[in-house]
Amino acid sequence: MRFASLGSGSKGNALVVSHQGTHVLLDCGLSLKHTEAALCRLELGLESLDAIFITHEHGDHVRGLKSLLRRRSVPVYMTHGTALAAACNSLPQVVYISDKQEIDVGGLAVRAVIVPHDAREPCQYLVRETMLPARTDNAVASGGECGYAGKKLGLLTDLGSASAHVIDTFSGCDALVLECNHDVDMLMQGPYPASVKQRVRSDWGHLSNTQACELLCELQPDKLQWLVLAHISEKNNCKKLALEQIQGVFSRHERLVVADQQQGFDWLELN
Ligand SMILES: [Zn+2]
Ligand SMILES: [Zn+2]
Repeated sequence: MRFASLGSGSKGNALVVSHQGTHVLLDCGLSLKHTEAALCRLELGLESLDAIFITHEHGDHVRGLKSLLRRRSVPVYMTHGTALAAACNSLPQVVYISDKQEIDVGGLAVRAVIVPHDAREPCQYLVRETMLPARTDNAVASGGECGYAGKKLGLLTDLGSASAHVIDTFSGCDALVLECNHDVDMLMQGPYPASVKQRVRSDWGHLSNTQACELLCELQPDKLQWLVLAHISEKNNCKKLALEQIQGVFSRHERLVVADQQQGFDWLELN
């Protein structure tokens, strides 16, 4: 499995996950133009996509969806609440997904996990391989595909707090894309109105750098091959601050990546 971001932050989010020729897009919050250009950079196109999974109705996660579907019809999974709130419930491509439900797409299984966030029925996703990577040696003969415990990638942004359900589901991942939304001091001294500051800080808002550190420690990070810091606010945080705080609790600094609003991040491979 490998994964890359087309862009990450409060202006738009989209992540592509690929395995065995299957490509799924998690969120579609960038303009169609940005989405196509970023896919092209990753040597993919709209025609490469096998399915799209939407986390929730906020614009930074659905902005490009309807224009993309006009160009390329592909199944789109989202919760019923998200479909209603995003006015997507009458789109023929939409398939409803519920908490804990897992959808098989090619060699990948994508599981919805409901999270605490101020949207109608927000979820995040856990993606796992269901097929062995192509191998040229004989190692495959001993295990076969039966019972194969594939690599797991967790997408965990847009949550205000860590629920027991989140900790239970996302523990022991091989890669994690984790929200580091804001630095509390920068948020409180920043330009947002008091009501928005309160909303961001609440249990239904976004994770601060400190909360991200605390959650990371609960998620048994020892197996992580990649830890990506994502959904970093351009107004209320900076990459350097987020990185410094996470480095305090995650010592394998060469395995840390910071997602960018414009550029996302390039392919990361799970071995
Ligand atoms: Zn968001
Ligand atoms: Zn959101």
